[in-house]
Amino acid sequence: MSGHKPIPFFDLPAILAPHHDELSVAWQAMLVRGDFVGGTELERFETEFAEYCETSHCVGVANGTDALQLILAASGVGPGDAVIVPANTFIATAEAVCAVGAVPQFVDVLPDTLLIDPAAVVAAVRPATVAIIAVHLFGQVADMDRLSEIARRHGLLLIEDAAQAHGARFAGIRAGALGAAGAFSFYPSKNLGALGDGGAVVSKHADLVARVRTLANHGRSEGDRFRHGMRGRNSRLDSLQAAILAIRLRHLDTENYRRQELAAKYRAELSAHTPIVAVHPKAEAVYHLFVVQVDNRRRVMNALCEANIGWGLHYPIPCHRQPAFVEFNEPLPVAEAAANQILSLPMFPSLKVDDVSTVSEVVRSAV
Ligand SMILES: *Cc1c(COP(=O)(O)O)cnc(C)c1O
Repeated sequence: MSGHKPIPFFDLPAILAPHHDELSVAWQAMLVRGDFVGGTELERFETEFAEYCETSHCVGVANGTDALQLILAASGVGPGDAVIVPANTFIATAEAVCAVGAVPQFVDVLPDTLLIDPAAVVAAVRPATVAIIAVHLFGQVADMDRLSEIARRHGLLLIEDAAQAHGARFAGIRAGALGAAGAFSFYPSKNLGALGDGGAVVSKHADLVARVRTLANHGRSEGDRFRHGMRGRNSRLDSLQAAILAIRLRHLDTENYRRQELAAKYRAELSAHTPIVAVHPKAEAVYHLFVVQVDNRRRVMNALCEANIGWGLHYPIPCHRQPAFVEFNEPLPVAEAAANQILSLPMFPSLKVDDVSTVSEVVRSAV
């Protein structure tokens, strides 16, 4: 296995390299114009990203965690409320709930997709429960048919954490346009990434989006910048990042398609040898991550390291087992078992098909 160049887990410079000229032009134009906060670049990106998500409104915010927090705050979620969150997610989903003074209720995930288990959601509903956050982890989409039905039946708000799912679909509908509102992150390694932090809220509900916009802009009243009708905060998407994102957005579908091709290659190479995290039959995944489940993970990781191949773990400690959340520590067996087996393999649009074969060969010989 020594005859190949190192294969990184993720290679941002390689992804950006074909776009250097376009990005430089945008950068230079911003320097000349000088509107670094707000302005036409931001408005244009918000319009284009809402269109991309096939929904009506978008507000750029500072990061994905803020996007979730602002949706919750704008929906009136606060102290005394509980919000259902899958145990298998990035910690930010739960942090956003805590940031508005509410309590996360961690629930288990499905053994095949490792996404939120609708039956566990039903079992978790209490009088204090006001919302569900469906996390579309790995670029997949949670079972939004069943979650929508559960939310309707129990009068709960259904929010999407689409931080890993830009462009994914469920029953033909884009992630972010399936629930009451969708939160996106533009952290550099996401499928749509800025050159720094960034995030967005999308929704078809004009009133909800208007409240998010006001809260994210110091609670400032529409039409009178000296009047603050709500106690807000500052959470903005920089105009420079918006300009960069507008360029990268034009390449997103091509890049997602490339990820799907690479995923198909991994599947062909590995499915007979080790379980691969499943995609719901109605979902069209965009493979933010490609995740396999292996019993002897230490051995596989060592073999990859020896072959100069990168790997990742998403996530080795479920949220309810994190020291930060000790008081929520009830057993959630599916999430806990999966945490010991999941392994993320190299996945990014400029990865070569031959690299997928090389990685797969190493995984096959180690499992
Ligand atoms: C990245 C991520 C977030 C948080 O986004 P930031 O922009 O880093 O705040 C939230 N949820 C999930 C699932 C993520 O992957």
